[in-house]
Amino acid sequence: MENKSIALDGPAGAGKSTLSKMASKRFGLIYVDTGALYRCVGLYVLRKGVEPRDEASVKALLPEISPVMKYDDDGVQRMYLGGEDVTEEIRMPEVSSYASDVSALPPVREYLLSQQRRMAEEYDVIMDGRDIGTVIMPKAGLKVFLTAEPEVRARRRYLELREKGIGTTPEKVLEEMAQRDKNDSERDVAPLRAADDAVILDTTNMDLGESFEALCALISGRLGA
Ligand code: C5P
Repeated sequence: MENKSIALDGPAGAGKSTLSKMASKRFGLIYVDTGALYRCVGLYVLRKGVEPRDEASVKALLPEISPVMKYDDDGVQRMYLGGEDVTEEIRMPEVSSYASDVSALPPVREYLLSQQRRMAEEYDVIMDGRDIGTVIMPKAGLKVFLTAEPEVRARRRYLELREKGIGTTPEKVLEEMAQRDKNDSERDVAPLRAADDAVILDTTNMDLGESFEALCALISGRLGA
């Protein structure tokens, strides 16, 4: 079953979630945004006032977090913490940086592993994250590493945040994104990197429509869909 699934990895702001959502509709796949799980842990740690790099303290909190992933009638993934819908709140820039910090801790990755693997085993998915092709779905039918120049990614993310009414500047977004990519790439466990058998898709010079067509061509070519 897993070989029909698609692993989509890449740095922040590469367009993974936008393109995954679109592709999930076209190819009838379930879209799993794994970053949302790390964001839930980040939010919980932030609310508790715990230092996100303090492994022992974060580990002690894990049993009480239990992030829940649900899908609404339109197939949109929503995230819950103790029954509270935190889907919007986990997108705040402060939570991004907490998510990146806690995601470098081995107990956190271990804690979230089975939930992701279960989704991959039960459904045909398009799953996005940082270690999907390397760790979560090593046998995915197609692995794509989606990337773009940092300035282009920061610009896209800035526009997205502005649309949501979150006040920031393009420079600040670029700085935070560079820090997060550095954290994610340099950590010891499951660092951000392309799997050896991943196809690299660089969308620096593509608009959304062109990026989507490029991704669809890869999916059709590989999965015969
Ligand atoms: O994808 P998103 O930007 O929402 O992810 C938030 C953070 O969660 C990333 O910066 C990364 O540190 C972490 N993450 C991860 N592994 C994944 C997905 C996300 O480490 N599979």
